Amino acid sequence: MCDSSDLEVRTTEKGKSLFTKKEVKKGEVLLAFERNFVSRPSRFTLQIDEGVFQISSSPGTLENYINHSCDPNCYIDFSELVFRARRKIRQGEELSFNYNTTEWDMERGTDKGFVCCCSAENCVYKVRGFRYLSPEIKAVLRPILSPFLTKKLLRENARLQKNLQKSLQRKEVLLAQPIQLLTPDN
Ligand SMILES: [Zn+2]
Repeated sequence: MCDSSDLEVRTTEKGKSLFTKKEVKKGEVLLAFERNFVSRPSRFTLQIDEGVFQISSSPGTLENYINHSCDPNCYIDFSELVFRARRKIRQGEELSFNYNTTEWDMERGTDKGFVCCCSAENCVYKVRGFRYLSPEIKAVLRPILSPFLTKKLLRENARLQKNLQKSLQRKEVLLAQPIQLLTPDN
């Protein structure tokens, strides 16, 4: 695990961001999130469950300077509530994670979402929370989703599947009708 002295907050054209001062191995833990929880979201919270949000005890805590990227070098490992490297990270790189992998609905929070300038090929442009993403992007993010969003996605997929089956059944009924009309008994 990285030491807090291996990380530093720097001011860039985007504002304040968190950087690593050393090379980080894939899978290495960069920091552990504080275990304080509140029931309302804000700019500094991380969604854990419905109405459960993690928050640090002080606005100056390093975890509050991690910016969003649509193609991030880190992710949040919810089994231990730690910030982990998704790939090898070079010394001096900015650290990021994808806010859409943890937040369900930022429009309803105090943050209201924001326009992303990460310049990644897969940039979603407006970051508003997982619920607003296309089914294709949702499926791509699945391996790095929080347990809460995984649960939401599975429920959503089950509902779509059910609706599809219902509409197929309706089509079958419609297709079956003219055939009935042509039977000799009619
Ligand atoms: Zn982006």
